[in-house]
Amino acid sequence: MTGTQNAGEIRERLRKLLCDLMLIPGLSGHEGRVRRHIAAELKAAGLVTRTDRLGNLMATLEGDSGAPAVMLFTHMDQLGFIVRKVEPNGLIRIERLGGVPERALASQEVLLCVGQGRDRPGVIANKSHHATTPDEKYKVVPYQELYIDAGFSSRDEALAAGVDIGVPVVYRPHWVELSTDRIAGTSVDDRAGCAVIVEVARQMVSRPKRPTIHFVFSVQEEFNLRGALTAAQILQPDVAIQLDLLLATDTPDMGYRGDVRLGGGPGMGLYSFHGRGTLNGTIPHPAMVSHFDAVGRSVDIPLQRSAHVGALTDLSYVQLVGQGVASIDLGFPMRYSHSSLEMCDLRDLEGLTTILVEGIGRIDAGFSLDRDDYE
Ligand SMILES: [Zn+2]
Repeated sequence: MTGTQNAGEIRERLRKLLCDLMLIPGLSGHEGRVRRHIAAELKAAGLVTRTDRLGNLMATLEGDSGAPAVMLFTHMDQLGFIVRKVEPNGLIRIERLGGVPERALASQEVLLCVGQGRDRPGVIANKSHHATTPDEKYKVVPYQELYIDAGFSSRDEALAAGVDIGVPVVYRPHWVELSTDRIAGTSVDDRAGCAVIVEVARQMVSRPKRPTIHFVFSVQEEFNLRGALTAAQILQPDVAIQLDLLLATDTPDMGYRGDVRLGGGPGMGLYSFHGRGTLNGTIPHPAMVSHFDAVGRSVDIPLQRSAHVGALTDLSYVQLVGQGVASIDLGFPMRYSHSSLEMCDLRDLEGLTTILVEGIGRIDAGFSLDRDDYE
């Protein structure tokens, strides 16, 4: 098998799995359908999976017991809404779940997740333009004032369809293929990470030299970032590698924030800090930074670098488990985060797969996690 053929096959597998996963609704706390799909993929690759009480999906591949054990993880949930009230006339009020951009909600299609086979479509209403006053035209309508119209003409009709307080709601799951291997879709964050980890697991199964690797697909990241913490407490890894988006900054509105290009390859986070609310973030372990930097150069996929305040990942919590976990955020560039159509480039996902297979594969018994060897 030549390198190019191999690369083509990997890219096609990533494309298929990413698109399949983006069509499955999985609001935070309601990840069951996504979990079962990923579990079936892992089983087909020869892995045995298990689930904890929160719903995290885990699969362990045993390896060199003298090498640091690795937890490679990503989240399988997505942001969205919860039904807050059904009005007497059948219109539906919603509560937000996760970092929903309110200015991009009006006239979006949504899916009311009543149950597999019983889900109902709906539309987030946008006030008729002909009745919009001049000052309303440039105003963002807060989510509390928005409503979903699912075509019901009464509360009883909505209830009969299973739409009641507490029902999960997500952007209508869909994707669109753009030019040059770019895909826009619902919840690229972080079904793209899920697709990459499944592909890494598939390749690692047949790799003779490897450390013990725990593959984890976590829950409730978009809610409060702590689903993965439970998995880490169970697994007690030495090393944690988290996959998620890196904010692409190559559009006119983002350039001042950094230097991450869509299609420019995978990258690593050198610093993240939420800066509000949680006061949490991640400064990666120097062993992980120098290792993945070197691996990237050796396979001709130099890693892009990202450092910023305003966002964080659940690695912030995972790194604190046990005696501390040597941690790093790796990821793929993504545009338009948390909107109904986020955009990624399959070539970046492919590069990220290569980096992970090589980088994790080279973690052996001689791999030092002693900070004095690096700082
Ligand atoms: Zn994410």
